[in-house]
Amino acid sequence: AVPGVTAVRVAQTAEKTGRRIIAVGSGKGGVGKSTLAANLAVALARAGTRTGLVDADIYGPSQPRLLSAEGIRPEGRDKTLLPVATRFGVPMLSMGQLVEPGQAIAWRGPMAGSALAQLLDADWGDCEVLIVDLPPGTGDVQLSMLQKHRPEGAVIVSTPQDLALIDAMRAIDLFGKTGVPVIGVVENMAGYICPHCGEFSDPFGIGGAESAAGTMGLPFLGRVPLDPAIRRRSDAGDPPAAGDEPEGEAFALLAARVRQ
Ligand code: ADP
Repeated sequence: AVPGVTAVRVAQTAEKTGRRIIAVGSGKGGVGKSTLAANLAVALARAGTRTGLVDADIYGPSQPRLLSAEGIRPEGRDKTLLPVATRFGVPMLSMGQLVEPGQAIAWRGPMAGSALAQLLDADWGDCEVLIVDLPPGTGDVQLSMLQKHRPEGAVIVSTPQDLALIDAMRAIDLFGKTGVPVIGVVENMAGYICPHCGEFSDPFGIGGAESAAGTMGLPFLGRVPLDPAIRRRSDAGDPPAAGDEPEGEAFALLAARVRQ
């Protein structure tokens, strides 16, 4: 990306809507992209940035569960959607809220694109930042996000594993080609401390995402350990970033870096 061109685009986007859009992407599914997006949004809100969350993951919209807002349908006013309030100070809209509960989302490109536009053009009130949880990979939703809605930047989530990294590089390549700067790479599921014996192990390796970021000249934003408490709280709709326990610390640190 040409720095000058990027700066002009960011300025235009901010001028049009008055808010910053930050996309969270990954090369493949299951690496913790949605978990990271939810906790990043909650951590930003706790740090005083008015933050909204857009769940654009048509393959597995999980934000309503992660933020304890399952089954709540957003209301509309004059064809504009009103985001759903959550307990965590982060208003939210999800692709999953546009279909009947349990129904598969089998939209083709143009439909997914117009659904995404509805979510982004909703009445976000005084939100300063919108975190967008993208579907994994490099499909239609990502393209229309990057080309039409021009996020200020993207955060890429990967596990330290080689395969996840190769896929992440494809996603990074797409952002680069559409001129959306990569804010940085997050390594998730990096290292595991056994809750019983305290021994440290690294099921997916460690440091792989950091060294890949370095090779590509991208900032490394930090790592989040593989922690059963993160999974447990995520399943329970209680994001770790909302509390003061150790499992929330990594997200607070990431939010501080993204705010800069
Ligand atoms: P994605 O959005 O990339 O498909 P999810 O955020 O849905 O991935 O995460 C997949 C699963 O892994 C979920 O059950 C989630 O709770 C769990 N998970 C994600 N990150 C962590 C972590 N750092 N420690 C433990 N479990 C995690």
